[in-house]
Amino acid sequence: MASPPSSKKVCPDETITIMVTGGSGLVGQAIRTVVAEEAQPNEHWVFLSSKDGDLSDITETRKLFEKHRPTHVVHLAAMVGGLFKNIKYKLDFLRKNLQINDSVLQCCYEYKVKKCVSCLSTCIFPDKTTYPIDETMVHNGPPHSSNFGYAHAKRLIDIQNRAYHEQHGCMFTSVIPTNIYGPHDNFNLEDSHVIPGLIHKCYIAKQNESPLTVYGSGSPLRQFIYSKDLAKLFVWVLRHYEEIDPIILSVGEEDEISIKDVALMITEAMEFKQEVKFDTSKSDGQHKKTASNAKLRSYLPDFQFTDPKQGIREAVEWFCSNYDTARK
Ligand code: NAP
Ligand code: GDP
Repeated sequence: MASPPSSKKVCPDETITIMVTGGSGLVGQAIRTVVAEEAQPNEHWVFLSSKDGDLSDITETRKLFEKHRPTHVVHLAAMVGGLFKNIKYKLDFLRKNLQINDSVLQCCYEYKVKKCVSCLSTCIFPDKTTYPIDETMVHNGPPHSSNFGYAHAKRLIDIQNRAYHEQHGCMFTSVIPTNIYGPHDNFNLEDSHVIPGLIHKCYIAKQNESPLTVYGSGSPLRQFIYSKDLAKLFVWVLRHYEEIDPIILSVGEEDEISIKDVALMITEAMEFKQEVKFDTSKSDGQHKKTASNAKLRSYLPDFQFTDPKQGIREAVEWFCSNYDTARK
């Protein structure tokens, strides 16, 4: 995997403290790995989990900012889940994420954080749209009904970023990743995203010598990004991206794949030989959300994404080796 250029530092002459909210999750752990591999002497990274404090509570959030005094913030913490968790808990997704984002961004302002990079998602884009979707289209119409709670809370980060910039001159920006997978994911059978959910189901089906059941028809299309690729791009955004407007962090449109193909990559990586069934009584969710990575490519034309077969093999190996402690 080629890394984006990383020689330029945010503030080359002074030590900076970068606080990562949600540092114990899928993306946070990948960023931890990437910055350990290419450590910059002037960067001090702090990775937080919910055990350090509840960021939906502004008093607890202030305590964390007071303790760590970050100059930069990577804001990942969120209530996160796959399609079926989003369908069940729309109000919780809306309220919890509104509360977390409001506390974190207000504290970034109060503590004079120089740059904050928050995380949106391609599932916040309008449901009825033209393709490919780009960064200018976030607010162009209602999101898909399955995840409107999560989507509206995340869209408001972009509004907050612009308001903090226009009223107070803050440098708060955001990235828009597609469906992410990798080590340290949430492998819960019902609440997780599709790749970790199917890895766990396949693991159980292999042990029981039973069929693997994939939810829905298998025909929806998704762009998947390996967590380590996303982590490299996140670090590049922190160090080099100067716009308030969001940037989509995604593989190309040509790399969109069907849920059926993803399921088959998982069965291949797990050497699973039994039958694969599709439960069409379960929702397919949005058929596709094809996103353009043209803006990313205008900055980083040569960035190489991990082949999904390789990424899925690594995620499967991680899950099997860490079965007892993995989130599930
Ligand atoms: P994750 O693995 O579920 O991690 C969530 C992180 O947020 C954990 O570190 C968790 O801490 C922390 N957290 C949750 N609620 C908190 C609270 N009230 N106070 C403090 N910390 C809290 O999620 P992820 O997949 O890494 O997601 C990272 C970001 O990417 C999120 O903003 C998400 O919306 C976005 N995103 C994810 C995907 C995807 O496919 N996964 C796709 C697009 C965008 P604990 O570990 O202590 O619980
Ligand atoms: P989305 O990309 O935001 O829709 O979220 P997911 O990562 O949950 O992917 C949902 C898509 O995968 C839908 O088309 C589901 O029908 C399909 N899918 C198939 N099996 C599973 C599974 O076990 N878990 C989840 N979450 N989705 C599945």
